Amino acid sequence: MAFKAEYIWIDGTEPTAKLRSKTKIITGAPAGLDSLPIWGFDGSSTNQAEGHSSDCVLKPVFSCPDPIRGGDDILVLCEVLDTDMAPHPSNTRAALVEVAERFATQEPIFGIEQEYTFFDGTRPLGFPENGFPAPQGGYYCGVGADEIFGREIVEAHLDNCLKAGLGLSGINAEVMPGQWEFQVGPLAPLEVSDQLWVARWLLYRTAEDFGVSATLDPKPVKGDWNGAGAHTNFSTKAMREGYDAIITACEALGEGSKPLDHVKNYGAGIDDRLTGLHETAPWNEYSYGVSNRGASVRIPWQVEKDRKGYIEDRRPNANVDPYVVTRLLVDTCCTALEK
Ligand code: ADP
Ligand code: MN
Ligand code: MN
Ligand code: MN
Ligand code: MN
Repeated sequence: MAFKAEYIWIDGTEPTAKLRSKTKIITGAPAGLDSLPIWGFDGSSTNQAEGHSSDCVLKPVFSCPDPIRGGDDILVLCEVLDTDMAPHPSNTRAALVEVAERFATQEPIFGIEQEYTFFDGTRPLGFPENGFPAPQGGYYCGVGADEIFGREIVEAHLDNCLKAGLGLSGINAEVMPGQWEFQVGPLAPLEVSDQLWVARWLLYRTAEDFGVSATLDPKPVKGDWNGAGAHTNFSTKAMREGYDAIITACEALGEGSKPLDHVKNYGAGIDDRLTGLHETAPWNEYSYGVSNRGASVRIPWQVEKDRKGYIEDRRPNANVDPYVVTRLLVDTCCTALEK
């Protein structure tokens, strides 16, 4: 007996890493994560090593059914190690493991809203060959062939994520034509991040069969068109139980060098997207507020009403590394809440 395992990893492409994958045939009956073998790849082809010393190690960290191949086949998300088994410099997961363990008793959870844009060759899906479509206004959560482009791909991607057992909580059409969103979570930091990476891989892989590409470019069309973000919703046990903790978290994110420490790690090209226009706050000014989609951090109205719940960090770009944004939020907010 044999099955196919698609080993997926995050490469070293600058300034935004890309996903790579290759297939391993494993003989024997399918078993759990712990029994999946480590593997390797040519790091000189992924910006992760020099040609003279090119071996990198793939260590499985998360696996799920492969909804594309079906049967006993699986997807295997890996972290990248050097041959001495230490985390590779491109491995941002290792640092999250340490921070998530340190603050585990505060029970942090995340829901990440992943926005993305379909491209048909060189232009967004739904954009005419010459010029531009009708201005933004009717596309967000729209219906009908004049407003919606790529729904069949979006539905196929959602089905694939659910078949894989990923914790998606919803999807919607976005403000720009060809732009969409799916949400993963709420889940613990490592779970939400691993699952978001796999959901991204499934997005590219699903769209591939339709001859369409998907991009996490934070500002795919210059001018009066919305960028693509990854609003990161966050809570701890204390925040889910009381409003003081909500305010403590919002204040902690505004202290000293924190706004810049966060923003500069929230995805390449963030100053192109966080302009102060298009439902964003300027990248260099921190603010928080109830219901405010022009603030860096939004407290949903229901949270103010219930006096408990979660906050939404609206700053992360679509191309943010979830291992990084969850680590920074846990580190900053949980350190403040610990006091
Ligand atoms: P928006 O109104 O900003 O578009 P969405 O519905 O797209 O909001 O996304 C909200 C996200 O917040 C979802 O992924 C949801 O699971 C997540 N969420 C809900 N409650 C919590 C919580 N207590 N802590 C963290 N995330 C949460
Ligand atoms: Mn080869
Ligand atoms: Mn949303
Ligand atoms: Mn959105
Ligand atoms: Mn949002």
